[in-house]
Amino acid sequence: MKIIIAGAGAMGSRFGLMLHRADNEVILVDGWQEHIDAINKNGLKANFNGEEVVERIPIYNQNEVSTIDFSADLVILFTKAMQLDNMLQSISSLLHEETKVLCLLNGIGHEDIIKNYVPYNNILLGNTMWTSDMEGPGKVKLFGDGSIDLQNLGAGQENVANEVVEVLNQAGLNANYSSNILSSIYKKACVNGAVNGLCTLLGCNIADFGKTTYADAIVEQIVDEFIAIADAQEISLNKDEVLAQIKSSFNPETIGLHYPSMHQDLIVNNRLTEIDYINGVIVRKGKQYQISTPYCTFLTELIHTKEEILGAK
Ligand code: NAD
Repeated sequence: MKIIIAGAGAMGSRFGLMLHRADNEVILVDGWQEHIDAINKNGLKANFNGEEVVERIPIYNQNEVSTIDFSADLVILFTKAMQLDNMLQSISSLLHEETKVLCLLNGIGHEDIIKNYVPYNNILLGNTMWTSDMEGPGKVKLFGDGSIDLQNLGAGQENVANEVVEVLNQAGLNANYSSNILSSIYKKACVNGAVNGLCTLLGCNIADFGKTTYADAIVEQIVDEFIAIADAQEISLNKDEVLAQIKSSFNPETIGLHYPSMHQDLIVNNRLTEIDYINGVIVRKGKQYQISTPYCTFLTELIHTKEEILGAK
């Protein structure tokens, strides 16, 4: 299959590498010139479950793709949420009427942007439990296993979603068709929304936050706001299940000792965060449905304040 990875950072590099190894015709499209130069010069380097590998995959700057001749069957979107619109604009000349577009970004509401560039029936939404870390330009660290759930947005397009599932599975990416992807997307965003922003502001790992006497009450307020917004859209989100998943993340033996990726982005790397697509969406939708969202509002504002203080880019 001819595949464009649009956004070839940590996750895009993982997917690009695994799909390329499975004999798909893959190109990477990205906007980080140092990373592009490193991959063009030395190949994409990865520590892949402890083994050092190099994969030669063509990579293009998104500002130059309009001149290339590549008619994609599938585009996998892996930008950060705030880079998505710009990326879709850049690659729009490579999309034809049959090109399927799979969005695997974290966060809520990306379909509202994608549908400005892609016919509704060609859009697939997904959620992934794979992880990946950037070690520097041209180099990623890929450890552990993961999975993908995905679903078509357009009615009657299940066969399209299943074809994509098959291609991903041939590359060992462990994909499954989901009959309720919006619910899983909300669940993941809610788990992230309850922990990521707070650990970033408080400068602590997930376990240290979870141990505090305030954690349960704060988390419950945030979860209630997500559930109210999900309910307003008839998306089912089970409170007990979400709370149980958040509590399990407090355990030092699961992921408790990790700092969430938002902490890595803002505090370690001085980059802007995806807060507007996690808690911030709940605030925007709250205004639309006249539902009060004070915890998500305050958290979103505090993260933006911290971004300004640090001059994040
Ligand atoms: P990423 O930050 O590694 O890459 C996103 C974009 O930012 C890429 O275009 C990349 O080239 C660019 N970039 C990365 N580091 C940069 C730097 N130092 N300077 C300039 N540009 C840089 O993001 P990601 O981790 O691949 O995440 C993509 C999406 O997938 C996000 O929505 C994220 O929330 C989600 N996600 C990530 C993981 C994970 O483990 N990394 C897991 C699940 C979902």
